[in-house]
Amino acid sequence: SSMNKRRERLFKVIVTGDVATGKSSIIKRYVHDVFSTHYKATIGVDFSLKALQWDDDMVVRLQLWDIAGQERFGNMTRVFYKEAVGGVVVYDMSRNQTLDSVRRWKKDIDEKVLMNDGRPIPCILIGNKSDLPASVSRPAAEMDALCQELGFVGWFETSAKNNSNIDTAMQTLVSRILERH
Ligand code: GDP
Repeated sequence: SSMNKRRERLFKVIVTGDVATGKSSIIKRYVHDVFSTHYKATIGVDFSLKALQWDDDMVVRLQLWDIAGQERFGNMTRVFYKEAVGGVVVYDMSRNQTLDSVRRWKKDIDEKVLMNDGRPIPCILIGNKSDLPASVSRPAAEMDALCQELGFVGWFETSAKNNSNIDTAMQTLVSRILERH
């Protein structure tokens, strides 16, 4: 490929959150730059690969793990989280109850995977579907406080449909992962 890769890093990132918040749409947009309204039929664990030319001599490869329907069954198995170094928790800005679930998803991550030094892995919080008229933006101070409380390194409002803010969100997560690896 045309990429300069004197240094290459591979990071596993898990993407969790309630059903139909747009996890797989965010991954599809980020990796393949496409969006579709077709609801996926797959059930299982799958990952997509995204290569980022991070700087002049480093390529970052992200292995993005989507829980692909298994969230319906509640508690995720440890296998899904194994060796993850970053996390994304997604809620749907048009459905309040999906924000209430964020606490549980973050707790699940912290209970199942830690960095080698025992600290939680860096995670970002994504409110998706910002394009929908029914979507509600919570006050920034409230979101900052929630991130502080739950240990997210940042929060972002995105739209997989309009390709809004996903690159910025992922860029922030990768920066925080690189600080620690
Ligand atoms: P998942 O179950 O969390 O992986 O959610 P999906 O990615 O399958 O998305 C669930 C539904 O929401 C699908 O019909 C998507 O087309 C739709 N969707 C996902 N992201 C967005 C978005 O940013 N805006 C809008 N309007 N719809 C979205």
